Amino acid sequence: MSANSPSIIVISAPSGTGKTTIVRELIKNNKNLVASVSYTTRQKRANEVEGKDYNFVSLELFSSMIEEKSFLEHAKVFDCFYGTPKKEVEDSLNNGLNVILEIDWQGAMQVKKEKSDCLMLFIIPPSKEELMLRLRKRGTDSNNEIRLRFDEALNDINQYKNFDKVFINDDVTSTVQAIAAFIKEPNKASSLNEEVMTIIRSFRS
Ligand code: 5GP
Repeated sequence: MSANSPSIIVISAPSGTGKTTIVRELIKNNKNLVASVSYTTRQKRANEVEGKDYNFVSLELFSSMIEEKSFLEHAKVFDCFYGTPKKEVEDSLNNGLNVILEIDWQGAMQVKKEKSDCLMLFIIPPSKEELMLRLRKRGTDSNNEIRLRFDEALNDINQYKNFDKVFINDDVTSTVQAIAAFIKEPNKASSLNEEVMTIIRSFRS
């Protein structure tokens, strides 16, 4: 990525892969990176902060924002709506900052269409078993929600083909280092390796 042309970095992953932690670490250590704060109609979880984790809004407000074309992208995920505010992203880019969008694959596809020079990153868990463990350990969702998110992950993981690079989140520190290095010097040609393909195949069986 060129130092004088700020870009959008899309980070997608099946729910529970650990992308929120990764994004937090990435922006902590890189002064020219900011994370966009999405709007959502989902209920706030006990550990979340309004305006920091999300802007929590009513379905009515969300719908009017769609009408006013306030979103760069928006999608329905697990029965709730999520959207990236267009103006905030444009403001950050105009201020010379690279903007990370931590969004689902449906939104990622919309951004790719709109901003063809964005960097598309996909993160996968090291295994199905580890994904289930992480979803349970998070302790923020009901058993039903955990099952829904796990089932959806089996589907989401097949979206890897639409991304520039796939990372395995085995260990947060090394994943953050690998992503930071890729952002500095993207090499889109080396997208997939055997380890990634083995994990993806295991999700299909
Ligand atoms: P959660 O409810 O666990 O915070 O997020 C559920 C899913 O919605 C995650 O895959 C997350 O990346 C995605 N998400 C969060 N914000 C946005 C957004 O602005 N747009 C889209 N398309 N997905 C989002």
